[in-house]
Amino acid sequence: MYIDPHIHMVSRTTDDYQRMALAGCVAITEPAFWAGYDRSSPQGFYDYFRLLTEYEPKRAATYGIKHHTWLCINPKEAEDPGFAREVIALFPQFLDRPNVLGIGEIGLNKNSRNELQILEEHIAFAAKHDLLILVHTPHLEDKLKGTRLIIDAIRRNGDIQPGRVLIDHVEEHTVKTVLDAGFWAGMTLYPDTKCTPQRAADIVEMYGKERLWINSAGDWGHSDPLAVPKAQVEMRRRGHDEATIRRISFENPVTFLSQSGKFHV
Ligand SMILES: [Zn+2]
Repeated sequence: MYIDPHIHMVSRTTDDYQRMALAGCVAITEPAFWAGYDRSSPQGFYDYFRLLTEYEPKRAATYGIKHHTWLCINPKEAEDPGFAREVIALFPQFLDRPNVLGIGEIGLNKNSRNELQILEEHIAFAAKHDLLILVHTPHLEDKLKGTRLIIDAIRRNGDIQPGRVLIDHVEEHTVKTVLDAGFWAGMTLYPDTKCTPQRAADIVEMYGKERLWINSAGDWGHSDPLAVPKAQVEMRRRGHDEATIRRISFENPVTFLSQSGKFHV
């Protein structure tokens, strides 16, 4: 049994849902992100949020998987602050939907000034409504710099408790910074670049199992919706006990996500 706490099912087929269910997936969370194209109006985001809160939970339920989601305008589309603010203004009408857990995946893509401004406005929105936060960190060589900028932005808002923020896509050179600051850390598993299941197992061996989870981030790019069960297999092969595997792939997501009061498994 496992949870994939970060996967973009709008880009996946029903066959993926079926394979995930067969592999033991019982719940997922789907952050708002790029939809495969840049939306031409805030109305495009309105329709996307309806998809994430109305149709996708039904599609997941067909396979016995509980579906949850997060709201945001991702940094890739947040270069125009006026446009981004119109999207943020849509959030309140979706906050009461039963599968909405918080704000995410917010963060930085190219570490630009406008991205940082909109990141801070998302953080302020989450603080005002007492919401969990899921953070995307840049995949470029400036991941460490981006991670530090994001942590500073969260700290500047004194109302956010680090234990209610998960910083995703950590790697060997950023995980310690994130955990030491009191945040949760997500390891995104990719088939052969960035953090593979093998490297995730290495990170667990180096940094332990506190406040760490694994996810597939399955999306439009080369990615694997079965990455979490594959990491379970890798950890088992290395001799990790079942309690550790369950902690990383099930119990930790439950502990973090349950703080929303709306996570069900
Ligand atoms: Zn993502």
